[in-house]
Amino acid sequence: MITARAPGRVNLIGDHTDYTGGLVLPMAIDLATTVEGEPGGDTVVLSSADEGSEAVVPLDVADPPSVSPPWARYVAGVVAVMRPAGGLRGSVSTTLPLGAGLSSSAALEVAVALALGFDGTPLALAHLCQSAEQVASGVPCGIMDQLASAAGVEGHALLIDCTSLDVTPVRMPDAVDVWVVHSGVPRGLAGSAYADRRAECDEAAARIGPLRAATVADASSLSDPLLRRRARHVVTENERVGAFADALTAGDIDELGPLMTASHASLRDDFEVSIPVLDELVDRLAATPGVIGARLTGAGFGGCVVALAHPGATLSPGARRVRAATGASLTTQ
Ligand code: ADP
Ligand code: MG
Repeated sequence: MITARAPGRVNLIGDHTDYTGGLVLPMAIDLATTVEGEPGGDTVVLSSADEGSEAVVPLDVADPPSVSPPWARYVAGVVAVMRPAGGLRGSVSTTLPLGAGLSSSAALEVAVALALGFDGTPLALAHLCQSAEQVASGVPCGIMDQLASAAGVEGHALLIDCTSLDVTPVRMPDAVDVWVVHSGVPRGLAGSAYADRRAECDEAAARIGPLRAATVADASSLSDPLLRRRARHVVTENERVGAFADALTAGDIDELGPLMTASHASLRDDFEVSIPVLDELVDRLAATPGVIGARLTGAGFGGCVVALAHPGATLSPGARRVRAATGASLTTQ
């Protein structure tokens, strides 16, 4: 029997920057997905406590997006990219909410890959699962979610440079609690809008060079106002991630809130991935006593908001405190 466990993640700051080679600062969280099973055979058969129908995926699965039920596409994506030597019969369970922006999909992929015998570095595991997610969902996602799940360090956020793929753990100060609050809105538009935004960033980069190296002046030089806004978000968000990581390291907690506020405003106004429900939730949280800062987290259009708070703060009833957790692991009995 093998047991593979992979955490979800919350992104503290740096959204829509990973696929342009930028900076992100996620942390793996203490909510995770577990795959338990017995290796063998030439099929992957998994039940899920959260889904009615089993995933039944042959090792030579040809077209993951056409697999049914839909959740099995993530399993099929991993199988198609990894082509494991043998199958597996088992079950999936999770403490993560599904479709809430805490990367249950990445946690599922990473746990399935480990359960199927993936043996490599966390970065290689993340690459495999990023490809699996792209194949399964059709969304041209970056590497942040899978790398956070694979490489998490207890008590630390991860500063990820998506150009070099260096991962630098940044210790979370004891004086900062991390909370996630679900907006109640499913992330319906996230997939199609994500592809549009990625294409716009590619277009901006074709004109002014890699956005990672671009300056605010470069972004301002774009004649197309939409591309100008998109590029300005990415350039300024990269700056904010660096400043945020520095502030965490130095214990300059007062600097964190304004950076989160500016990040949310940039995602709302320049990148246009927020919705009024998220804006109102962020405003309400930011005005709550003891809250250091709040912003949307992940792709946008719904899902969760992340808030940092001083210990002892009381957030809204639906808020959930999360802790920085270790990355994915496998145990064999
Ligand atoms: P997020 O990754 O933010 O939770 P996604 O829309 O990217 O949201 O992924 C959610 C989807 O991943 C679910 O709708 C389901 O298809 C699949 N999934 C994730 N975790 C599980 C699980 N434990 N069991 C079955 N399917 C899961
Ligand atoms: Mg996901």
